[in-house]
Order: sequence, then structure tokens, then C-alpha cells
Amino acid sequence: MEQKESRFGYLIVFVMLDFQNTGIAFRHRSDRDLRRSALLFTLLSHPWLVKLANGLLKFALALRIPVAWIVKPTVYKQFVGGVSITDCLPATHSLAHYGVFSILDYSVEGGHSEQQIRQTHEETLRTVVHAAADLNVPFAVFKPTAFGDLETLSKDFSPATSLESTAHQGLLQYVSRIDQLCAAARDADVPIMIDAEDSWYQDLVDAVVTLMMKRYNKEKAIVYNTLQMYRHDRLAHLSEAIRQAREQGYYYGVKFVRGAYMEKERARAARLGYPSPIYPDKMGTDQAFDEALKVAMNNLDIVSVFCGTHNEDSCYLLASLIAEKQLASNDIRICFSQLYGMSDHISFNLAHAGYRVAKYLPYGPVRHVMPYLFRRAEENTSIAGQTGRELRLVRQEIKRRKGK
Ligand SMILES: Cc1cc2nc3c(=O)[nH]c(=O)nc-3n(C[C@H](O)[C@H](O)[C@H](O)COP(=O)(O)OP(=O)(O)OC[C@H]3O[C@@H](n4cnc5c(N)ncnc54)[C@H](O)[C@@H]3O)c2cc1C
Repeated sequence: MEQKESRFGYLIVFVMLDFQNTGIAFRHRSDRDLRRSALLFTLLSHPWLVKLANGLLKFALALRIPVAWIVKPTVYKQFVGGVSITDCLPATHSLAHYGVFSILDYSVEGGHSEQQIRQTHEETLRTVVHAAADLNVPFAVFKPTAFGDLETLSKDFSPATSLESTAHQGLLQYVSRIDQLCAAARDADVPIMIDAEDSWYQDLVDAVVTLMMKRYNKEKAIVYNTLQMYRHDRLAHLSEAIRQAREQGYYYGVKFVRGAYMEKERARAARLGYPSPIYPDKMGTDQAFDEALKVAMNNLDIVSVFCGTHNEDSCYLLASLIAEKQLASNDIRICFSQLYGMSDHISFNLAHAGYRVAKYLPYGPVRHVMPYLFRRAEENTSIAGQTGRELRLVRQEIKRRKGK
């Protein structure tokens, strides 16, 4: 009976939520925007072209040859909000007009000079302050690698290390930098998410984030960790994290993603001769992602869920769990999210149906956001159906507008 009801709930959500409605999906895009997107996704659909372009751009960047002239009007315009917070405001307002929130993501990657760390730290603090003042921006976010050399620090860390009483200056300094950001988020009442990157230093990041949750999640989920569900140990990690939060009396905020570094993870495991931390196939990742959503939703009294995915089935599943639990579609503890420039058909149709949905809106100087753009280009090329889907929907909308 329970199963029948849940299937019924899924069916109702499926009928009410129509991700194929391109009129809603692209209503914030002009005809010109759509033509530009169609051209870009057509180019991205050729793996050889993406490989060649990425190779040439990496070469140019290494030689410090200017690349902005080619990158800015193309991939940068599609996937990035601009160079500064102010640059992002038109995009933020345009999204907000249709009920879609923005999360400003200062996407500077790599580089651990003191000057760069300080500059990224100050900018991330500015995003917290901005989020506190702008109702269209409900979260802040940062990459844990931006504030220290985690490859090196993780070598001096083990799960037995106490991060509060360690004598290791590097670890103490790292924790202090993260603490300043989380304390600012708590003071501003802005939830803050810590992204996940490579698995080989995630134990350290998990330990730091857990410490922050203990400090700042006493009344609600302010600090969110990220779980990459392509890792086969993450479901067990999730259960243990919830158990610990319950036992020690704090709220647990979690962003679920599938994971963006699969090839790199597998290659490193093969090179160094340890078992790959990634599920052997996509089905394993998909099942783990959906199971994680169910576990989190069954613990909503202390858990807040941030569902970062472009996968339609996982979004339908979360929407059906919301219906099954008879929660308001815009329950404050639940948020859907997609990346800016991708899967507008999911974001805008979710918002139209009353769900809380936010776009990750990366920003930063062209040179610094290049690793992010390389990932988007490769992801849109390598994931079967992703570019095909974007291109098909954009073309469908262009055709629909012509026929009006
Ligand atoms: C808002 C948001 C925030 C994000 N933040 C992060 C972050 O902090 N850290 C991070 O790593 N990524 C992050 N990502 C990227 C994310 O991890 C995925 O790479 C991306 O979203 C594609 O997965 P999907 O669920 O959208 O879609 P899908 O197309 O359904 O899934 C693709 C994903 O499935 C997995 N997969 C594909 N093939 C296989 C296979 N053969 N075996 C096992 N698994 C496979 C991979 O993870 C792949 O990326 C974020 C994405 C979003 C939307």
C-alpha cells in the first residue's frame, strides 16, 4: 500500500512538473541568447573540437597569451556571471524575476600564495555580506582548496588528529580561515556550503566541516558539507554523520552531488594501485544519489537538503518525496540547484511549480575561472545525452517562438 501511495505521489508530481516546457524554461532568454546557446552547444557536441580547443587554451594560458577575447563571448558568457559581484547582478535579477535564486560562487581555483588566499578569503566574505543583504541570494559557497594547500596539509592529518588542539600551525591556520567564513555566515544568518573536490583530502575537509557544524549549527543548518555520491563510501558516511549530529545535538546541512572528478579519481587510483573510490558504473552512482535523498528526507527534523543535480529523475524523486511527506513545495529545508547556463528546463519549471531552486552562479576573472570552464566543456561533451539534451531543448524553443 505504502509503495502504491508513493508511486501515486510520483505520478502526480510527474504530471504537474513538466521539464519539457521550453516556454517556461527559456523565458528569461532573448532570441539572440538562444541562437548563441544553440551554436555553443553544437560546438560542444564535437568531442574532438572540445579536446582541441581545451588543449590550445591550456597552452595559451601557460604562455600567458590573452584568451579573454575568445572565451568571454562564448563559454564564459554561457556559464559565468561576470568578473565581480556587481557584474552578476543583472543575471541574479533576471533569474529572480522568475522565482529562481542565485548562489554567487567565486570560482578562483588553484594557487596558494598568501596573497591569493587572502584575496579569495576577502572576496568570499563579501559574498556572505552580499547574500545577507540580497533576498535573491539564499546561500554562500566556497571551495575548501582555496584556503590552503590541502594536498600537503592532509598528509599531516589523520582522523585521530584534534583540529582544535593540534600543534600543527598549517592546520590551525587553515581551520581558522574556514572558521572566519562560517562565523561570518552564522552572524549574517546565511547558510554556507563547502564544495567537495578530490577524495584524497576529503577526510580533512569532512573533519573541518564537522567542527564548523558543531560550532554554528546549533539552532539550524548554517554550515553544509558536500557529499559526492559517486563515492561508494558516502551512504555510510551520511548515516554516520546524521547519527553523530543527532547524538551531539546539532543540525546537519548537506549538499548532494554526483561528483565532477570521476576520470581523475580513477586514473589516480590506477596509478597508485589502490581501489577506485568511485562506483564502477553510473547505475551505482544514481542509486546512491537517490538513496541519499531518501535518507536525508527521512531525517528532516535535523537535516537540510541541497540537491545539486541536472538529473531529471533525481529531481522528480525529490519532488515526489516532498509530496509524500506532505511538505510545502518551498520548504525552507530543501533546495534544488543547477549550474548557471545549464538545465534551465529543470530550474525554471521547478520554480514555476513553486519549489525552492537556485542557480550556482560562478564569477571571477577569465584566467581564474578557466578550470571551471574546462570542466563544463568536458562534462557537456562526455556525459551521454547532456549536450544533446540542452541543444534539443534550445532548438525546440527557437522553433516554438518562430511558430508563434
Ligand atoms: C549546484 C551544483 C553544485 C555542484 N557542486 C559540486 C561539488 O561541490 N563537487 C563536485 O564534485 N561536483 C559538483 N557539482 C557537479 C556534479 O558533481 C556533477 O558533475 C554534475 O552535476 C553532473 O551530474 P548530475 O547529477 O547533474 O547528472 P547526471 O548526468 O545524471 O550524472 C553524471 C554524473 O554521474 C556520475 N557518473 C557518470 N558516469 C559514471 C560511471 N560510469 N560510473 C560512476 N559514476 C558515473 C558522475 O558523477 C557524473 O558527473 C555540482 C553540480 C551542481 C548542479
